[in-house]
Amino acid sequence: MASKEINTCTDVVCPFCGTLCDDLEVDVVNNQVVEVRNGCQIGTKKFFASNPSPHRYVKPIIKEGDGHKEVTWDEAIDKAADILIKAKRPLLYGFSSTEADAQGKGVELAEMLGGILDNTASVCHGPTLLAVQDVGVPSSTLGEYKNRADMVIFWGCNPVHAHPRHLGRYSEFIRGYFRKDGRHDRYVVVVDPRNTHTAQIADLYIKVNPDEDYELLNAIRAALRGVELDVEEVSGVPKKDIMELVNKLKSCKFGVLFFGMGLTQSISHHRNIDTAICLTRELNDYTKFLITPMRGHYNVTGANTVFTWNTGYPYSIDFSKGYPRYNPGEFSSCDVLIKDEVDASLIVASDPASNFPAASVKNMFKHPVIAIEPHETPTSAFADIVLPPAIAGIECEGTAYRMDHVPIMLRKVKEAPGECLTDVEILERLIEKVKEKKGE
Ligand code: SF4
Repeated sequence: MASKEINTCTDVVCPFCGTLCDDLEVDVVNNQVVEVRNGCQIGTKKFFASNPSPHRYVKPIIKEGDGHKEVTWDEAIDKAADILIKAKRPLLYGFSSTEADAQGKGVELAEMLGGILDNTASVCHGPTLLAVQDVGVPSSTLGEYKNRADMVIFWGCNPVHAHPRHLGRYSEFIRGYFRKDGRHDRYVVVVDPRNTHTAQIADLYIKVNPDEDYELLNAIRAALRGVELDVEEVSGVPKKDIMELVNKLKSCKFGVLFFGMGLTQSISHHRNIDTAICLTRELNDYTKFLITPMRGHYNVTGANTVFTWNTGYPYSIDFSKGYPRYNPGEFSSCDVLIKDEVDASLIVASDPASNFPAASVKNMFKHPVIAIEPHETPTSAFADIVLPPAIAGIECEGTAYRMDHVPIMLRKVKEAPGECLTDVEILERLIEKVKEKKGE
């Protein structure tokens, strides 16, 4: 008879979004998650999704006819290695929803294959990374913001939906060492074209015209320097509101600007972030002000960090010449796929078929696709080979980097089902097989 004993794991880290909440409690009975405490709805759902379901892969599978058939690990790894070795320009993409050791193995494999190595930053905060390389970044940790910030700006992001506990743990409602009254000690500003749920609980909502963030940021910078604005409105924002915001920014004790894909993926892209960073730097003539991107995937910051310490570059890296070259826009996954330059793909912990442009996805599936993926997704459903991993942060340990670059150790709360291996084990087996086949 199955045991009903509850195994409770405390201080569990949520492997969903870049907030990496580390205070979850998870009850496990018979190797199944039965309760999650402290998690938000999306984080909790991820833990329950690790339980057995028709969507969970438990054995390696390869394509056969219109469907897939189960195979042994040896067979799957052998076929995957053949595909990767045969390819002239393989793409290794994803890596933002797995842990740091697996990301390091991804770099090793990409280098051996002379392939293109990319992570999800190329379709989210890539412009942030370019801007930081251009102008540097004055930043700090979420703990500092919690304890000190009395002015919080959310620009082009909606944490109520995308990072639900960010507000309660770090940025809005939480009491901090110098912010004893929590929400009452903070002035919250939202800048967004949409009146989001985060905007609805802000002290000040600034409705900016879509794609006109750059103009508004520069108008604020000009006003900050004492330039008299000779127009009545900028980007749909009346001049008097801009002046009111500037006065608020100058008079706070400690401010932080959080920004999301509303800023990185609107027109001007990395120039938006350049100017947001410059505004932050200039505000330090009057007060203390810092800036931090709201990173989405729980370990996309880790992917950028691990890729950088191995290659010098955070994403969009090409090894075809035997050494790493970096050129977002040329070596980014979407671009190489649209140009049909890739002749095989290894997708790790990601689902590009759901969020890449149709032209990229169409070209990706013209060639062999290998997916390291625990659940059925639009990518894995059409992949030639699916290698099932244990879910990092639930079924195996590892390290992840929070959106503020603080590394946090992920915990394991249950065993992986079936024959699942960890991402590291799968990538190590691929590396060994590629070496063997290449006679290295
Ligand atoms: Fe998980 Fe993010 Fe929700 Fe925290 S805010 S519980 S890290 S999904």
